[in-house]
Amino acid sequence: MTVISSNDSKENRVRTLEMGAMDFMAKPIDEELLVAYVSNRLAYKRELEQAIVIDELTQIYNRKFMESQIKLFIKHHQQNKEHFSIAIIDLDYFKKVNDTYGHLVGDEVLKGFASLVKELKGAEAIACRFGGEEFVILMPRTTKKEAFIFIEKLRTSMEKKIFTANGTSFHVTFSSGIAEATSTNLHPKKMLEEADQALYTAKQLGRNQTIIFDNIAAVEKRKVKIKIVVIDDVYIIRDLITNHFKHLEENEDYMIETLAYPDGISFLEANWYDPECKYIILLDWILPKMDGIEVLSKIREQHASSNVIVSMLTSRVGEEYVMKAFINGADDYIVKPFNVVEVSERIIRLIHQMFL
Ligand code: GH3
Ligand code: MG
Ligand code: MG
Repeated sequence: MTVISSNDSKENRVRTLEMGAMDFMAKPIDEELLVAYVSNRLAYKRELEQAIVIDELTQIYNRKFMESQIKLFIKHHQQNKEHFSIAIIDLDYFKKVNDTYGHLVGDEVLKGFASLVKELKGAEAIACRFGGEEFVILMPRTTKKEAFIFIEKLRTSMEKKIFTANGTSFHVTFSSGIAEATSTNLHPKKMLEEADQALYTAKQLGRNQTIIFDNIAAVEKRKVKIKIVVIDDVYIIRDLITNHFKHLEENEDYMIETLAYPDGISFLEANWYDPECKYIILLDWILPKMDGIEVLSKIREQHASSNVIVSMLTSRVGEEYVMKAFINGADDYIVKPFNVVEVSERIIRLIHQMFL
């Protein structure tokens, strides 16, 4: 607020400013001065407004602005039945870029990506930095298929873009998840969650790709589902192996789930077999109630090695034990005490040989 007054006294100026006026102008007013003054103030106001909605580093919109816009687009979609799609984009292995080339180079990559988006996105889409190395693109009047085509174009341009740091050049890729507004996700949080789930799947499948939320199930289906089962009465062994495989779950060819049982009977009675999955069973020999070889025979009555691999995991050493295990249908023989890294490498090798 600017106060215009004919009382040009010092007290009046001070009082006006103290009451919250931004500025004070005395009458009579020079017209030319007033025009210059107002346009100056308006430019300042625009700059302030921009600063509130623009991300400083990348110079695209910030998260706060995105959150206000997504609400509007959802409303439009509800009122006019216009298509509306969003994409979440997350740069791949970005931490490694920082670790290898330094944080400043990382910042340059973020800027480079943002300018690529600006260049390619077209007039209607709104690109925002969601935080860190994550971005959200709002695409009004766009179906999920059209969104996919655009994001894929952006992705292939990004993958070709050359970044340089201390004389070496490198590339950075991204993964993306897309969601389209439907009757069941008409809330910003819900749409973002769907896109985020699709992004997660894109990361799991090996990164540098785009997944549409509706296709997650179909895409996941193409991966081999592998269950690793540990049957051992020693809790520490069950825990060690299941925990180790938790870190190896992500892979573009297969998904791993781990299961553990303290004895063979509880395993056999567990209704464990799912024909959509492949199994690797790590079987202790000396077990309560029913010994491992008997459990092995029971497994082999129903399932061949093409679907169920059994590896004995035992402290029993000696050729006759190994022979007995193989005669009864074992595929592998691991001697305790074992090294969990070696065991997991061996299992991965078995997965590749037998299931992929
Ligand atoms: P993933 O492929 O799974 O996404 O791996 P990632 O390394 O990209 O993912 P993660 O979330 O582990 O790492 C993100 C990194 O982004 C960590 C953080 O230091 C970095 N980062 C976040 N904001 C900025 C920034 O403004 N500038 C720079 N240079 N780095 C940032
Ligand atoms: Mg991230
Ligand atoms: Mg990332």
